[in-house]
Amino acid sequence: MERRDFLKKAGVGTAAVVGAGAALSSTLVGCGKGDQAEVENLKKEVEEYKGKLATLTKKKFKWKMVTTWPPKLDVLQEGCERLAKRIGELSDGQLEIQVFAAGELVPAMESFQAVSDGTVEVGSGASYYWAGKEPATQWFAAVPFGLNAQGMSAWFHGADGLKLWEEVYAPFNLIPRPGGSTGVQMGGWFNKKINTIDDFKGLKMRIPGLGGKVIAKAGGTVVLLPGGEIFTSLERGVLDATEWVGPLHGLRFGFFKAAKYYYYPGWHEPGTYLEYFFNKKAYESLPKELQQIVDAACVENEHWVLAQFDARNGAALQTLINEHKVPVVPFPDSVLEALMPMAEAVVEEEAAKSPMATKVHESFKKFSKEVGTWGSISEKAYYNGIMKKYSLKG
Ligand code: CA
Repeated sequence: MERRDFLKKAGVGTAAVVGAGAALSSTLVGCGKGDQAEVENLKKEVEEYKGKLATLTKKKFKWKMVTTWPPKLDVLQEGCERLAKRIGELSDGQLEIQVFAAGELVPAMESFQAVSDGTVEVGSGASYYWAGKEPATQWFAAVPFGLNAQGMSAWFHGADGLKLWEEVYAPFNLIPRPGGSTGVQMGGWFNKKINTIDDFKGLKMRIPGLGGKVIAKAGGTVVLLPGGEIFTSLERGVLDATEWVGPLHGLRFGFFKAAKYYYYPGWHEPGTYLEYFFNKKAYESLPKELQQIVDAACVENEHWVLAQFDARNGAALQTLINEHKVPVVPFPDSVLEALMPMAEAVVEEEAAKSPMATKVHESFKKFSKEVGTWGSISEKAYYNGIMKKYSLKG
């Protein structure tokens, strides 16, 4: 409703509405019981109008968000839509965000630039997609044999991870916010068996980020494809293998129909973090209270994303094993042991590519050592004991 229409409908001017509350309060004394109820109702109405008036006179913001995810994709695109909805609710409609999936407004891999240019105000992806802009971006998504979801969260919120991320994105006019983690990913869907490290030679695999560079070092051919194009490529043999998060999406995309083996663990992405990025000027144009709502909604969504992945991956794994009889197989230890030094070399090479990458890598390495040492006597010690209870064989 337009402000003018509202006032006309209310039949009063602004001053009259505000003044009415005081007038009613003063007539409350000394009136009968029936009148009193009427007065209470009118008072309530006046309060409602005051609230509506306040909302109508507040500046409204209408933003657009572009993502790198296929339309409706569970947790990923779904999470972006949830974030927009929560910001709308928390701001009482003051900040409305319309969400577009990959390709609906801009192609997936152009969303960073679109937000950077201010064509749209918000984006979502995984920061390793932007390695071409600045190699340092990769550490905020996933480092092979690096931190898990808990460790990444600790680096962002308990150490200097987020501060560094903001520093890396600042030259692009962007403000990043952690968008939640996928948890440990799966190793991927393969049509060829991996028995030794040499089996990666000539393997055509869709695998992004630093992990892809490790596969290239092992002799594989890395193909970069957005989510929507993977299935057909795998089915037609354009790809020998692909990775994409975990069982939930493997089931959704139907990769089990196009690949023979489902390998684990996702050594290349042990706790991949997603991201929201805001155009700096747009973010700074918001009143302080709206900025706080945006930040709080991001943290809430960050928690939601990991919870959804853990819960739904668990259920989807059961379906893949029991209904679709998918062979879920581990990479041999010897393969993981051979990949580890390659990954280390890749990370060092990337770190040397820019001063910012060197700085971020130093922070990540120092933090991983501390939190990893602590983890070895906390998380690891606990898992080594309790995990004997659980196995694929039930
Ligand atoms: Ca992945």
